Amino acid sequence: MTAEIKILDTQASNQIAAGEVVERPVSVVKELIENALDAGSTQIEITIEGSGIERIRVQDNGQGIPAEELPLAVLRHATSKIRSIDDLMQLQTLGFRGEALPSIASVSRLEIISRPPAEISGRVLRVEGGDQLEFDHIGSPPGTTITVDDLFYNTPARRKFLKSKNTEFGQISDVIGRLSLARPDVSFILKHPKVLVLQTPGRGLLLESIGAVLGQATARRLLPISCVSGDWQLKGYISPPDLVRSTKQGETLIVNQRIIRSNSISRAILEGYHTLIPAKVYPIVVLNLQIPPHEYDVNVHPTKMEIRFHKEKELMEFIAEGVRRTLLEAHPVTPYEKFS
Ligand code: ADP
Ligand code: MG
Repeated sequence: MTAEIKILDTQASNQIAAGEVVERPVSVVKELIENALDAGSTQIEITIEGSGIERIRVQDNGQGIPAEELPLAVLRHATSKIRSIDDLMQLQTLGFRGEALPSIASVSRLEIISRPPAEISGRVLRVEGGDQLEFDHIGSPPGTTITVDDLFYNTPARRKFLKSKNTEFGQISDVIGRLSLARPDVSFILKHPKVLVLQTPGRGLLLESIGAVLGQATARRLLPISCVSGDWQLKGYISPPDLVRSTKQGETLIVNQRIIRSNSISRAILEGYHTLIPAKVYPIVVLNLQIPPHEYDVNVHPTKMEIRFHKEKELMEFIAEGVRRTLLEAHPVTPYEKFS
């Protein structure tokens, strides 16, 4: 076969990118919340209908998008967060790829309403399957409200791969729980569709957010962990050895306020619990690692959940040792005496 080489049109290339960036409803929710956090929001309200397939709405009270920039927000590789690849070395934001909104716009009916607090009115931008339908003035509270309707309506193959509504919604509430643990200073509200599923106070107290997300009974039993080595800092809460689960679901790993997945850190934690818990059970941990941004790379995968650490071995020893020491120090006192 001889076929001509041609450059894909914008819509096709955005839909292909969407395959990686927004695999399922939960990925849309995560990207929208990360944008709200990058915009400095202190309150984020998420409304989900039909497990995210019918509607995902994220309303924030952040800095908003200036009117003249709004149409740019849905263009591929358009970002206000970095200017060159070097900026990744001191990245302060969760986003940097400029891919989420164009990807979402290409596979849904998207509406963005935004008003920077200093403006007197807002703007609305509506895009359907990548085509801009409307850009106009609109009355709006300060901040940004993004509504994603009929996700994957124009990519039936993708839609077919979605799991049951319960599974999709479970993933959404799970990721919102984790994001709220990463940012106890922000109040998160999740509604589905009229039922209040989760609300965190946003007062900056991690244990309060843990109570809201994992339950008060769990929060009361956790041990605080806090260790420092040079410019590395590890803080958070870990469960006593008799409070374990059969899955890794109870593990929330946060690096510089970003929720991540890391098999190395999971292993390091288990090493810290070594001999104190049986095989195939997992502790409940919420671990915040603060390390200089130039000591790791987040540009590994479009979902930005994976991280490569430059000093992986030393870092894992630091984490394992911190967990071990915390458990040993707590050991002389039985959990019941200490936390009742
Ligand atoms: P990225 O987050 O990687 O920059 P996105 O496609 O997610 O790319 O967003 C594009 C741009 O739109 C952002 O750089 C930001 O300027 C703007 N933006 C998106 N969501 C919001 C929001 N909730 N509040 C303010 N600005 C936003
Ligand atoms: Mg983003």
